[in-house]
Amino acid sequence: MAHRAILVDVTKCIGCGACTEACQKSNEQSPHEARGFDEQTFTFLMDRGNDVYVRRLCMHCEQPSCASACPVSALHKSPEGPVVYDASKCLGCRYCLLACPFGVPTYEWHSAMPRVRKCQMCSHRGEAGPACAEACPTGATITGERETLLAEARSRVANDPKTYFQRVYGVTEAGGTDVFFIGPKDSDALGLPNVKSQVALPDLTWQALKHVPDVVLYGGVFLGGMFWLTKRKEDVARAENAEKGEHHG
Ligand code: SF4
Ligand code: SF4
Ligand code: SF4
Repeated sequence: MAHRAILVDVTKCIGCGACTEACQKSNEQSPHEARGFDEQTFTFLMDRGNDVYVRRLCMHCEQPSCASACPVSALHKSPEGPVVYDASKCLGCRYCLLACPFGVPTYEWHSAMPRVRKCQMCSHRGEAGPACAEACPTGATITGERETLLAEARSRVANDPKTYFQRVYGVTEAGGTDVFFIGPKDSDALGLPNVKSQVALPDLTWQALKHVPDVVLYGGVFLGGMFWLTKRKEDVARAENAEKGEHHG
């Protein structure tokens, strides 16, 4: 496929959770209730009341600020659409977490070899594409070639103004994304992040960081490492104390 995208039509979503279940399975995560982005959760459903359910997942920005903020290109936009992550390159500085305007990436704080975690549009499945789209029983989540999918979204919205709020979310947000949402209400009412910028955000991240002296930059990485070590120490201390408590109890 030339350039893959995902369309979420909120009017068709019944909140069944087949998408979250398929996502966990596809990413070899143990089945669990998905309440928000975390190390084991790349997609979740928000219950907005009155039978309105809205998914969240990485938006696969056209010009991703997470990738732009990464000093070692551990995240990059693939020509096929997905914004993918290479753990072997990652320094653990977590600039990507700060840079993402949609609050998507998370970090494996409790792992000995921590990674950044987020949806990679199931790029590991190749042509089979996103497992969530395959699993959705109502067509609320579909996948396809970006321009075709965008035309479909625009046509649904234009042809049924009684059902759809007259806007496709993702066309302008952060300069454009590869995940689109259409639905019965505006994005605020649907609970989608209010990302005002109609221009790509990378200029505000790594380009800006280029003007930061190296000592500050690597100092940041160093401090990040120290923070992680401190956190690890705290975890170990907590576990040891708990063990002592058991022995004394
Ligand atoms: S939504 Fe966030 S994590 Fe996903 S591609 Fe955009 S900037 Fe990166
Ligand atoms: S594309 Fe894959 S990783 Fe992303 S939300 Fe869907 S199932 Fe999960
Ligand atoms: S599988 Fe489809 S209908 Fe079910 S919750 Fe997910 S998007 Fe909605």
